[in-house]
Amino acid sequence: MTNTPKLVLRVTCVDLAPTRGQTSTAVTSCVHTHIAQVGLSENGSGPVEVSVREARSMIENGYLLYTVSPSSGKTALIHPFTCPCGVQTLRSNSNAGDDMNIDRLPHCG
Ligand SMILES: [Zn+2]
Repeated sequence: MTNTPKLVLRVTCVDLAPTRGQTSTAVTSCVHTHIAQVGLSENGSGPVEVSVREARSMIENGYLLYTVSPSSGKTALIHPFTCPCGVQTLRSNSNAGDDMNIDRLPHCG
């Protein structure tokens, strides 16, 4: 079965928000910052802001989301990620350099 990407979108900015994990019985002290929205750009247009839920749904439906390092120009794919606190969020490939980590992108504002 082939999983042909429908569209490739660059994540150019993120909005972060402190969110309490849903599994709060396990980790009551885990209130930290998660990605709330991401800004997606197609061929330099946009960005169009979508929620993390929408972005995860897009990835599950075959879209490729990626970030670009401003220093090296390298790219890193974005994957759905469930934070240890239980919040469903996104993260970039674990081998991504610091400045293309999705958490380090500029705020969408
Ligand atoms: Zn968390």
